[in-house]
Amino acid sequence: MASSLSVVNSPASPHALGRTSWPGLIEAYRPYLPVTAATPVVTLLEGNTPLIPVPAVAQRVGKGVRVFVKYDGLNPTGSFKDRGMTLAISKAKEAGAFAVICASTGNTSAAAAAYARRGGMRAFVLIPDGYVALGKLAQALVYGAEVLAIKGNFDDAFSIVREMALSYPVTLVNSVNPYRLEGQKTSAFEIVDVLGDAPDWLCIPVGNAGNITAYWMGFCQYHQEGKCDRLPRMMGFQAAGAAPLISGKPVANPETLATAIRIGNPANWEKAIAVQQASQGQFTAVTDDEILEAYRLLASEEGIFCEPASASSVAGLLKVKDQVPSGATVVCVLTGNGLKDPDSAIKHCNNQFKPGIEPTLEAVVQMMGF
Ligand SMILES: *Cc1c(COP(=O)(O)O)cnc(C)c1O
Repeated sequence: MASSLSVVNSPASPHALGRTSWPGLIEAYRPYLPVTAATPVVTLLEGNTPLIPVPAVAQRVGKGVRVFVKYDGLNPTGSFKDRGMTLAISKAKEAGAFAVICASTGNTSAAAAAYARRGGMRAFVLIPDGYVALGKLAQALVYGAEVLAIKGNFDDAFSIVREMALSYPVTLVNSVNPYRLEGQKTSAFEIVDVLGDAPDWLCIPVGNAGNITAYWMGFCQYHQEGKCDRLPRMMGFQAAGAAPLISGKPVANPETLATAIRIGNPANWEKAIAVQQASQGQFTAVTDDEILEAYRLLASEEGIFCEPASASSVAGLLKVKDQVPSGATVVCVLTGNGLKDPDSAIKHCNNQFKPGIEPTLEAVVQMMGF
């Protein structure tokens, strides 16, 4: 990328060159990533998302436990998928691809569309008809993806794109693409860079189980490099209606309002089991009601709006809080932004606006109850 080369060669400050000091995660973590000087970096300056203390959650856990959320909903397209996509698309471009394809519950398609279009490629996305949150569908369309809604669920769409990529000139950018996980592992680096060590627990929503695998890769790599002394227990949470890793068998008709993790047959199943075993972690199911309770708690008491799937990490922590060691440091990953899913938000927030008020001071004062 010409601009980053000129930054390296120029004595001028990054700001003088019209760039923020954060260069995007490929430049920030270049030595840890499979890129070379020949890789064309396609970036929207993703990564560097905040690690926010959540005292109202911590108070419910008790025992002097510190709890933070890694708010990855603040990435450029509103989910952690951007971390994987900057690398997957850069490598696809390096390999000369002109089109990418993915199956998606929504966030992968938004990220694939944004990065592919920025890299000058076509993006084909297969989504389950009727099960993609409105904001995500809007993103894929506006970014210019070619969106195909199939009469099936994510798992059906995924088996089609997987086969497609074997026989047609399109690069698969689902999380079975190894570059996706390489990019996503940088979130673990950022957590260690801020905390000075790995947390005791990492709580994370699990759908296809790419992200839990990526975080573990990141923590292990940093551990090997001496950047952290410990490794976290990896605590994965699935929605009760889509919990194959807990039941031990694929779920034919997964159901949950947390559509981003509505997956019955995780693409990274074996990897996820390996992570759980290596980290002495655990998979736990949380109900939609528990997810919604955590979702409302995060928004109304912490000021953090995430999408329902993301809230499963906090719902899970609260569910298994008795197992948290006293004084532990816990990070819950908030994978996506609440604005992605305005329908769920309005339907489940236990709050309503008051319509039809006369435009007078008296009427407003009266409604306010003064
Ligand atoms: C993709 C996604 C997940 C699930 O991540 P996996 O890597 O498939 O386990 C969770 N939450 C959100 C918001 C997502 O977009």
